[in-house]
Amino acid sequence: MITREEAYKKAIEQKKHAQKDKQRQYNMLLNSAYASNPRLKEIDREHAAVGANLVNAALSGGKALDGLKKHSAALTLEKKLILEKAEVKEPTPDCPICGDTGYVSGKICDCVKRKASDIMLTELSAEMPLESSRFDNFSLSYYKDEDGKEGNPRRRMTAILKVCKEYVIGFDPKKSKNLLFMGSAGLGKTHLTLAIVSGLIEKGFLPVYGSAENLFCKIEKEKFAGENRGTYESMTNCDLLVIDDLGAEMATSFTKSALYNLVNTRLLSGRPTIINTNLSMKEIETRYTARISSRLIGSYDAYKFIGGDIRQQKAVERMNKE
Ligand SMILES: [Zn+2]
Repeated sequence: MITREEAYKKAIEQKKHAQKDKQRQYNMLLNSAYASNPRLKEIDREHAAVGANLVNAALSGGKALDGLKKHSAALTLEKKLILEKAEVKEPTPDCPICGDTGYVSGKICDCVKRKASDIMLTELSAEMPLESSRFDNFSLSYYKDEDGKEGNPRRRMTAILKVCKEYVIGFDPKKSKNLLFMGSAGLGKTHLTLAIVSGLIEKGFLPVYGSAENLFCKIEKEKFAGENRGTYESMTNCDLLVIDDLGAEMATSFTKSALYNLVNTRLLSGRPTIINTNLSMKEIETRYTARISSRLIGSYDAYKFIGGDIRQQKAVERMNKE
């Protein structure tokens, strides 16, 4: 998915573009007003002459000064009225705080952050089924309300859903907990993490979401191409990092050390991370080394998703309908 920095860059570009459009439109209107009102050119000429006389009068302390000032004001007013009548208005910035520059005293303006959120949501929706992965369409009815050997799926998932909703409500990029969602495929881990991600984007936070496969592939490419490490940087600095489907990527010494560095750096800077995985803790240890699994055990709240594969249940429902 698009990183925070890319979204900011895009947002600022869009603002600049909108500004240019406005200026172009204004110039067009102005030109046609001049074309249909010859008086405007005369006013400009008179104004230039009055201006020159004003300077001379001011230097010589002459009496003509007051009269010239009045003349100048009258010309300004006349021009203003003509342009108003022709409905030519000077473009005003959409954001009065930054004047559409995107920055306020060296910092990125809130209007850019809002635009960046929209951009991220749009881009993410293009890649991910965001619209179908919300809290309000997460159906608990797919989880059986009966005790199994791992517990009661309905009760477990009701509790996990509550944890996820509260996570969004109380989100703090410096304080929120790290979550580890475990359990087999098709139990709603991606659905719930996407619901968290879009909930946070709507609140103005900038999370980074991606499958382990995509994220690691991107940072590996960046590393070997010697490019700037934008993806890695935003994975370490973003408000929330979500690594989906850890274990589905190729386990190489690169991905292992990248995972360790990411988890560790974010822990040290107190930034939250959510990891989804089909692997058990034992499998994580075997696949990624004990130092990673001990970090996860020690610093993540683990939740085990249980129940029957929802994708299969939905497929059966569809078949029954047809
Ligand atoms: Zn602004």
